[in-house]
Amino acid sequence: MSPSLLDDARRRLEMARPEAEISDEAWARLAMPRSTLKVSIPIRRDDGSLAVYAGYRVRYDSTRGPAKGGIRFHPDVGVDETTTLAFWMTFKTALMDLPFGGGKGGVAVNPKELSVAEIERISRAYIAAVADTIGPDVDVPAPDVGTGELEMGWMVDEYAKIRRQSLPAVITGKPLALGGIPGRSSATSDGAFHVIQALGERLTGGAEAPRVVIQGFGNAGAQLASLLVDAGYRVIAVSDSRAAVHDPNGLDVAKLRKHKDETGALTDPPVGREMDDPAELLTLETELLVPAALQGAIHKDNAWEIQARAVVEVANGPVTATADDILDERGIEIVPDILANAGGVTVSWFEWVQNRQGDRWKPDRVAQRLEERMVAETERVARLAEDRGIPLRTAAWVLALERLGEAMDATGTERLYGGGGKKG
Ligand code: GLU
Repeated sequence: MSPSLLDDARRRLEMARPEAEISDEAWARLAMPRSTLKVSIPIRRDDGSLAVYAGYRVRYDSTRGPAKGGIRFHPDVGVDETTTLAFWMTFKTALMDLPFGGGKGGVAVNPKELSVAEIERISRAYIAAVADTIGPDVDVPAPDVGTGELEMGWMVDEYAKIRRQSLPAVITGKPLALGGIPGRSSATSDGAFHVIQALGERLTGGAEAPRVVIQGFGNAGAQLASLLVDAGYRVIAVSDSRAAVHDPNGLDVAKLRKHKDETGALTDPPVGREMDDPAELLTLETELLVPAALQGAIHKDNAWEIQARAVVEVANGPVTATADDILDERGIEIVPDILANAGGVTVSWFEWVQNRQGDRWKPDRVAQRLEERMVAETERVARLAEDRGIPLRTAAWVLALERLGEAMDATGTERLYGGGGKKG
């Protein structure tokens, strides 16, 4: 049997453990999720028939605060994937020092095959099914792959109906008109951009107009492409689930984004050359390779072919643990997901604070606070990596693990109760 996604993810934790100061008790508490909920989501299709989907909400840990994490609509969603994503969120919020734990949810459905009205029904039915386990002080969902502002709007509205009160802090990533915050939809790419800029030459080797390859031209990937072009990088290739486009001299990203918005795909692009085999995109020679789609894109079978100087994980878990070892051996730097894509949940935190205070934050305040937080945490990770001679990934996990361990120990350890194990 191949290892589960969670086993693969846990290997990173095991690598970090010898470097981290963490008690055995805290370690033991991290062995499994706090709670796992599987629900059925029946909806009426537009043609009058009934469809039933499987939905999930996993709370991996909430020692540091309410669980926090997105809701994914994708056909591959299942309990292993959702648990792993909740596990990653636990470490992401700890690394960024946000007052949250980690959670995740999802529905096993392909939203591309459904009408808008059907997606609304699924969004509302999902919230009805998990309403008892979420809440502003308990577990706070947000967008993830396959969901966005629209879905969050339906969800927060449904929750208000169920509770018969307005509770905007239950969900982040909402439309502005329903208590959302300016800058949430660009937060993941903005955060990744700050991380890349803060690491600078460590990633680019000082190359002039450094080359960038982006796998995944959705919300985060496409916006990051524009930010990098504006900052003088050369985006030489991008791909979505259907096509890959290449131009060694640099693509006109604005034109490609317009094309994707209008047609829904990168197929038949107005600029660059459509690659015969989109999988080859990952193996192009480049300074930065940015996997911004799904987990497991770089694995043991293609890790030896990667010709990037650095890999920036904008997706969650795009490099498997085995591929990690290979890239490390080959001296390819990896900027880990729990840092590189943490801009999204960081702005979610601002949104949650704003909602709880009944306030409205201005775009400048969001942008400034995000940059400060991203740069500070990136510098902490880079410093630890340098001091100990460990990869950035291990350094990030060490910092997150220590923060979590500290919180867990503060709830009491064996030592506090007099050591000695069981009495009487
Ligand atoms: N889904 C995003 C992530 O994986 C954002 C989660 C959130 O904002 O709570 O980080």
